[in-house]
Amino acid sequence: MSEDKKPVIKKIQSTGPMRALMGEYFMELDEAAKTGSAKVAWCTSVGPAELLRAFGFLVYFPENHGALLGSSRLASDLIPAANALGYSPDICSYLTSDVGSYLKKQTPLSRAFGMETVPKPDVLAYNTNQCRDVQDWFSFYQREFDVPLVGVDTMRNVGDITKDHLDGLVGQYKALVPVLEEVTGTRLDLDRLREVIRSSYQCTLGWKKVLRIAEQAPSPITFFDGTIHMGPAVVLRGDDRAVAYYETLSAELEARVADGVAAVEDEKWRFYWDGMPVWGKLRDHAEFFGARKACVVASTYCNSWIFEDLAHDDPFEGMARAYTELFIVRNEEFKERYLTNMVRDYGINGLVYHDSKTCPNNANNRYGMPQRLARKLGLPYVVFQGDLNDLRMYSEEQTRTQFEALVEQLHEQA
Ligand code: SF4
Repeated sequence: MSEDKKPVIKKIQSTGPMRALMGEYFMELDEAAKTGSAKVAWCTSVGPAELLRAFGFLVYFPENHGALLGSSRLASDLIPAANALGYSPDICSYLTSDVGSYLKKQTPLSRAFGMETVPKPDVLAYNTNQCRDVQDWFSFYQREFDVPLVGVDTMRNVGDITKDHLDGLVGQYKALVPVLEEVTGTRLDLDRLREVIRSSYQCTLGWKKVLRIAEQAPSPITFFDGTIHMGPAVVLRGDDRAVAYYETLSAELEARVADGVAAVEDEKWRFYWDGMPVWGKLRDHAEFFGARKACVVASTYCNSWIFEDLAHDDPFEGMARAYTELFIVRNEEFKERYLTNMVRDYGINGLVYHDSKTCPNNANNRYGMPQRLARKLGLPYVVFQGDLNDLRMYSEEQTRTQFEALVEQLHEQA
């Protein structure tokens, strides 16, 4: 996409405080792992983070590391090391790039924060709400580090969430407690859990507000900005610093709206992005769409860190609900309704579906949904083949042609 006249990508000023906060977060983990000043838990991205934090763990998220491996473009060189161990090139490339990073002792955290390695875990906690890969991923580290592995096994393809679903899940959350008590040598303090959940819920509200500001036309933020600024909502939910950060960011975006500052100059088209980002191509994609006055204003991905059911009176039921009501857990009917509402709310002109080779869980084009939605909504769409981290699965030329065709279709219809 290099021959495009590059549009100016407008820098969000809050990026500075966000990077400082992420730096603080990693330095605390590094310190804890080196000195033993706090226990470290590894958690899947939509795993039981609040419960872990209530026990005083510092929480590290390997998927966040996976995204860093993708955006730093180290992933494609590291994946073969995991493949050689029997982890197929067809399974989650966060998993294979992260395991490759461990095997080859290379991490982007060294360059970014001077960390020699990722922080070693005292416990590993997963939730299969997003996929089975996370369980296999953490099982690898369980064997490597010989620490307890705990998890919640969530059903997938769920329509309505029923009492039967919830009873089983609440039981599973409660079953994590004795193991975490054993690892930390402390009892669960329910008041502390409620405090952490309250903070996490405030973070959800702040992050949702940021994403919803993009309903404004022109939008002051793009999906590509969102993938960067979601960092605190992923790794620091339950910590008040994340709440404060989203106040800063939303104030900046509201000021942009008041001043008529658009993320994409002369915004003409508004797109929805379904599926994973291509981490190693974020900037290229932002520039491609920006050059065509198209703003990708909303996405399934960025909205995945909104957990409104945490507000429930009972903390265990709140967690069980919040981590099961997610888009990725739900059936096609729910997803179609959800996308239909997003198209309406954000004034979408066209949809981009990323068929991510190694993450079928986050690809929603494989069972006819783009075609059904196109018939229903009368909007053009494109499905492109790629991957979140493995750039060997991505064709620059083909993707560019497909994106171009989508924009041209809109011009023709206008
Ligand atoms: S949801 Fe997809 S990207 Fe995330 S861990 Fe699972 S397979 Fe990997």
